[in-house]
Amino acid sequence: MTDADVMVNKVAIIGCGLIGSSVARAVRHAGAAAEISIADSDVGNLDKARELSLADSYHSTALDAVSNAGLVILAVPVGAMASVATVISGGLKAGAILSDVGSVKNSVLKSVGPLVPAGVHFIPGHPVAGTEQSGPEAGFASLFDGRWCILTPPDDADSAAVEALSAFWTKLGSKVDIMTADHHDLVLAITSHVPHLIAYNIVGTANDLETVTRSEVIKYSAGGFRDFTRIAASDPTMWRDVFLNNKEAVLEMLGRFSEDLTALQRAIRWGDGDALFDLFSHTREIRKRIIDAGQDDEAADFGRPHKP
Ligand code: NAP
Repeated sequence: MTDADVMVNKVAIIGCGLIGSSVARAVRHAGAAAEISIADSDVGNLDKARELSLADSYHSTALDAVSNAGLVILAVPVGAMASVATVISGGLKAGAILSDVGSVKNSVLKSVGPLVPAGVHFIPGHPVAGTEQSGPEAGFASLFDGRWCILTPPDDADSAAVEALSAFWTKLGSKVDIMTADHHDLVLAITSHVPHLIAYNIVGTANDLETVTRSEVIKYSAGGFRDFTRIAASDPTMWRDVFLNNKEAVLEMLGRFSEDLTALQRAIRWGDGDALFDLFSHTREIRKRIIDAGQDDEAADFGRPHKP
């Protein structure tokens, strides 16, 4: 496949937050589309996108943005995907690819799929890349470099459209994997959703303690708590929607997590140092494998510089 094949005429990005604005920047950087249009329901965010010159046109209604676009990417919270799809369905051009970046795939497939007109290729996607920031200023062009983008095409998806979308994400710097929406939701439940829930929970618990003051929690946060607060600062709307829309997989993984936590409690209670040492050695090995796979670096604190 040549570069010319990868380039789409016009990409429409609906929702210009962290991910939408990063897609716009990466498309520009990679020359992956001749034209970029952006829509956002938030006038302030649209103004910021304009100030940052992220696109060629800016729209307060998604329907206007998708006109004549060969590729449309929904980058709104998962709970808003279906309402956006309802608004744009009449304006999608025949042969266009409709995709998304939502962190949950099965609910998007089920809620958006029936709204897609015949002749439009619907291929849900999820770039597994992000930060705890939100909004158009938070995005950056290299966000997807070396990160996985998972596509979850329906069974009857057009293979040429899947290939074209894979090529698009590859051009943006991603590595592409294809799997079912169900499998995606199970994998992401343990690698992303449950870790976020644990972070939200531990920060909430620390905030509610009576015998340790809140100022002590902040003062001594470098002991490990600080790294949980980064994750727990993630966007409340986005994460509310993730848990409401990936209920079954998250509850399944939480069940497993609770069982393992109970085993750890028992090991601490009975002074089973071998069990603790074995687990901690194994988890250290997993960290090494993540670094070896290029998904993080070895610098302290996940590579982020900190003031002393
Ligand atoms: P974000 O920074 O909050 O951006 C979402 C943008 O969409 C906001 O500007 C929001 O406006 C706008 N919006 C909300 N409803 C809309 C609607 N109906 N029509 C048009 N615009 C609408 O969120 P994000 O982090 O980019 O997340 C976007 C999607 O990417 C989510 O589905 C999320 O699951 C997925 N994702 C996120 C990450 C991550 O690390 N953040 C990683 C991978 C995938 P308001 O601010 O007014 O609501």
